[in-house]
Amino acid sequence: MTNVVETESNYTSGVNSKRPLAIVRGQGARVWDENGREYIDCVGGQGTANVGHANPVVAEAIAEQARTLIALTEVFYNDKRAAIEEKLAQISPNHANRVFLCNSGSEAIEAALKLARYSTGRTGIVAFMRGFHGRTMGALSATWEPKYRDPFVPLVPDFSHAPYDNLEKARAAITDKTAGVIVEVVQGEGGVRPGSREFLVGLQEICRERGALLIVDEVQTGFCRTGKMFASEHFGIEGDFVCVAKSIAGGLPMGAVMIGERVKKLEPMIHGTTFGGNPLACAAGIAAIGYMEKENLAGRAAELGAYMKGRLERIESPLIREVRGLGLMIGVELKQKVTPYLHALMDRGVLALPAGLNVLRLLPPLVIEKSDLDVVADAIEQVLQEEKE
Ligand SMILES: *Cc1c(COP(=O)(O)O)cnc(C)c1O
Repeated sequence: MTNVVETESNYTSGVNSKRPLAIVRGQGARVWDENGREYIDCVGGQGTANVGHANPVVAEAIAEQARTLIALTEVFYNDKRAAIEEKLAQISPNHANRVFLCNSGSEAIEAALKLARYSTGRTGIVAFMRGFHGRTMGALSATWEPKYRDPFVPLVPDFSHAPYDNLEKARAAITDKTAGVIVEVVQGEGGVRPGSREFLVGLQEICRERGALLIVDEVQTGFCRTGKMFASEHFGIEGDFVCVAKSIAGGLPMGAVMIGERVKKLEPMIHGTTFGGNPLACAAGIAAIGYMEKENLAGRAAELGAYMKGRLERIESPLIREVRGLGLMIGVELKQKVTPYLHALMDRGVLALPAGLNVLRLLPPLVIEKSDLDVVADAIEQVLQEEKE
């Protein structure tokens, strides 16, 4: 057998920080490496695998659509695209009356940023410290982390960053030149930090007052992750744009912007994408969303998330600063760097993510069994003890 890690290392671009592990198969919340070793997966494809790996309903829809029609741009109408646009509008947290389909989270953010400028005729974008919105130039301009931004300056003009969860600072930053205000309901990459109701609801009020459009980034929080179909629903906020991607299509690349009525009429050709709304991704999306509803994955995430958070909070370790999260989006902030603990967990058959330097992040498929979460909580407790001694 060829060595996967070695071959990929020889040819990969190098921009990704990788662990020396080749995963070749998945099922539900478990994955297997090339030697057949099994892991409990709390990486969940970085939040793209909410319905579980190799979900049979999604796999069947993809296979069926692959035999029917894969390639079709939005020059023509399509049955699967019509179905997912209707579905997204119906379940949208913002009473969306239009849906833009694309292929990734960054693309959904780019679209919202452009359309906010287009709709308002203004240029300013207010984003938040520790926010993450993607790596393309517009999305990167809204992203806060200097490590991601600095090598690529100058970025897009007229972006500014206010402190997250500070309404007074936001009020000062949003003016009559602000086209859009972009915010995560729970900051993901920035350390799993849920926003407060006061902040999120207040932000919406300020946007309405000043004629700015609210862009809610639900790329990571969407599709049942936080215990509701969309995290916006916890607070009743209605973004003018709600951007989604990650788990929308069972793991296939897809993004969408659910567009509210305050956004002006969009003219043909002002924006677009070749692959956006392709029938294959649309078919996968219909299947994935249908599965989430049928299996009540939102309820499952709420229940299991509360259970897991409780278990983690009961771990007595001087290394833990705080356990945070909403639903099955959980962060354990450590007083130390998280990387050694991620490796120790991997040795114990548990895959987890970082969020920044010192937060251990769990984004398991929402189909995960409670007993698997027990194994994960025990493993976390053990590795934190090990390092202490
Ligand atoms: C992952 C992510 C993005 C970017 O999505 P890509 O598909 O990687 O382009 C944007 N916003 C948030 C909150 C994310 O978690």
